[in-house]
Amino acid sequence: MRKVGDVGWLDKPEPQCGPLDAVIRPTIVAPCTSDVRVAAGWAAPRTDRILGHEAVGEIVQVGELVTRFKVGNLVAVPCVTPDWLAPGVQRPRTVGHDTEEEGSFKFVGYKDGVMAELAHVNQADANLALIPDGVTPEAALMATDMMPTGLRGAEAADIQFGETVVVIGIGPVGLMAVAGAVLRGAGRVVAVGGRDVTCKVALEYGATDIVRHSSDADELTAQILQCAPDVDKVIVAGGDAATLAAAVRIVKPGGIVSNINFYDQAASLTMPLVDWGLGMADKDIRGTFCPGGGAQLARLLQLIKHGRIDPTKLITHRLQGMDALPEAFDLMSQKPPDLIKPIVYFD
Ligand code: NDP
Ligand code: ZN
Repeated sequence: MRKVGDVGWLDKPEPQCGPLDAVIRPTIVAPCTSDVRVAAGWAAPRTDRILGHEAVGEIVQVGELVTRFKVGNLVAVPCVTPDWLAPGVQRPRTVGHDTEEEGSFKFVGYKDGVMAELAHVNQADANLALIPDGVTPEAALMATDMMPTGLRGAEAADIQFGETVVVIGIGPVGLMAVAGAVLRGAGRVVAVGGRDVTCKVALEYGATDIVRHSSDADELTAQILQCAPDVDKVIVAGGDAATLAAAVRIVKPGGIVSNINFYDQAASLTMPLVDWGLGMADKDIRGTFCPGGGAQLARLLQLIKHGRIDPTKLITHRLQGMDALPEAFDLMSQKPPDLIKPIVYFD
């Protein structure tokens, strides 16, 4: 990202490895919807920032205080890499965040990302995970952001056995929320998407019903309630502020709306308070963020290793070589009908 709206190549000095840190050579990376949004100016007008926060790679350097990793290890890098010495990390929020805002989203947000020949990882012992036998590197790549975010959506929804769950938005994040809802024991799972490719994969992950979304939130509400009138939990992984308001209307009293979608800074949430039971319906609205750190990532890799989730169903496009990065980025920006997630092999 050279400046807002201008994505291309940058030449930068090699990253410096602090005593607790590591430098990795990314071997596969994936662009994320959030990279596209940052490049378009989301949250701050950044300049000269390397994009990318989903990578697996080989360690090429470790700091002298790193004990759990060594040069040559093949590792997965979580997209959220908190400073584990910061006071904020000790306060209860969700796992692996060092501030109350998005400060633990260091790649792209606060420093150069992973779409580079070399990338710096702070506090390697706490922020990296070895890729275990039985897990392919591309499956591990999907565990760096798509899996933790989608599963976090299901976790924040506190899904109980047999509940009816609606997932609005089934891009790669929402599809992982569908898989997470199924793993947590949901009964009926309604997936709301717009394209054949995502609807098909939602069914493979265990969705029981598909609703083709309308961009009109009132129509969307009617479509969902017609399909499933008694909704315990809604996970929002796509759409805009009106979609979030629709989720509040859709969920029944006592239910939870679990949001993992990012909104435009300028957006406001407006909704008729009657949809929130005039303030008395015990409807929780929770907004949550991808958990950080190596330990949670290592647990997700166990889910893959033991066959609970196969996140490689998300990968629709495999590109070869660093030169293919612009094409991958364009794919993620334009979302052609056959795309869920593109990945780029560097070697
Ligand atoms: P995608 O753009 O791939 O998927 C969005 C989904 O929402 C698609 O299914 C899309 O349908 C659907 N959709 C679009 N507009 C509407 C609407 N008006 N009403 C209902 N559904 C709609 O995004 P990703 O899966 O990559 O990411 C989802 C969100 O999660 C993004 O906002 C991303 O920035 C955020 N994110 C959040 C993280 C966190 O920690 N909280 C981490 C990573 C990502 P269609 O197929 O028709 O386009
Ligand atoms: Zn992301």
